[in-house]
Amino acid sequence: MKLTTLRALGVLLCLGLAGLASSCTQSSKKPTLIGFSIDDMRLERWARDRDFFDAAATKLGAKVLVQSANGSEERQVAQIENMISRGVDVLVIVPQNSKVLGNVIREAHRNHVKVVSYDRLILNADVDAYISFDNLKVGEMQAQGVVNVKPKGNYFLLGGAPTDNNAKILRQGQMQVLQPLIDKGDIKIVGDQWVPDWNPTRALGIVEDALTANANNIDAIVASNDAIAGGAVQALAAQRLAGKVAVSGQDADLAGVKRVVEGTQTMTVYKPLDQLATQAAKLAVDLARGDKPAYNSHYDNGEKSVDSILLQPVALTRDNVDKVITDGFYTHAQVYGN
Ligand code: BGC
Repeated sequence: MKLTTLRALGVLLCLGLAGLASSCTQSSKKPTLIGFSIDDMRLERWARDRDFFDAAATKLGAKVLVQSANGSEERQVAQIENMISRGVDVLVIVPQNSKVLGNVIREAHRNHVKVVSYDRLILNADVDAYISFDNLKVGEMQAQGVVNVKPKGNYFLLGGAPTDNNAKILRQGQMQVLQPLIDKGDIKIVGDQWVPDWNPTRALGIVEDALTANANNIDAIVASNDAIAGGAVQALAAQRLAGKVAVSGQDADLAGVKRVVEGTQTMTVYKPLDQLATQAAKLAVDLARGDKPAYNSHYDNGEKSVDSILLQPVALTRDNVDKVITDGFYTHAQVYGN
């Protein structure tokens, strides 16, 4: 018998015995159970999302089951199936591969489990809601950040994971800034690659090859996050070019922030993860309890127009990087040492 059917029977039994069984009052107040399925919690950013999310959900009286797929799409599907069978009320998913979750989401809905797409949009599936930062804006900030210091020259585009819808949106945002300058002849794109799994070591290899192919004649690297910017800066350092070539990033990873401070990375994009996680926890609880969430946008995921909440990112350069300290994202000692 399905878990949901068992639950429904429990409620009926309670209604029938109302007043007689005090345990019924207890079970009708059962806390909302949220399943949080994360692509890869081994990455700094996602471990922080988990911590903020768990704290926010607990405050709302919900319980969270967290699973990390450690970068495997098969493992993620299996973990989601397991959460459904454990009776979660709502699933919050950071997809590893945006395109492969249609079936498991159908299974969730058959079990009356709502589904929230967290940070990355799940494509071609009937998700109930999407919450993220405005990734188009993030991409614009990345391109503008490097254009501000290298308004002319040879540009290399270092994109994110091809399986991540965000990687494509970031590129769209970057091109909105770059295309007019390409058309004017100020900027020349000398290479353009996607980094599987946003892997820093792959990024290092790609940038080493790009430097060789261009005889080190690269002025800027539009890197789509701090992890791959780290690989790029390592490749530049080996050619004594770190700090001379403009490099963008995203996430305000501690290593990224330190590179911004030391001048080897031009900028990063800070996305206050506590805001995202807190609003996502509220969204999940609202959906589970049948309350109407406060959406501010819509996003087409190939199957439907998904109700969305989009938050605002902040561009950080050396001039305003201390915002991560005043915000409590890091301590002064973490960024500058003791
Ligand atoms: C997120 C980035 C993150 C990247 C790699 C993207 O979908 O928006 O913040 O750096 O995934 O985990």
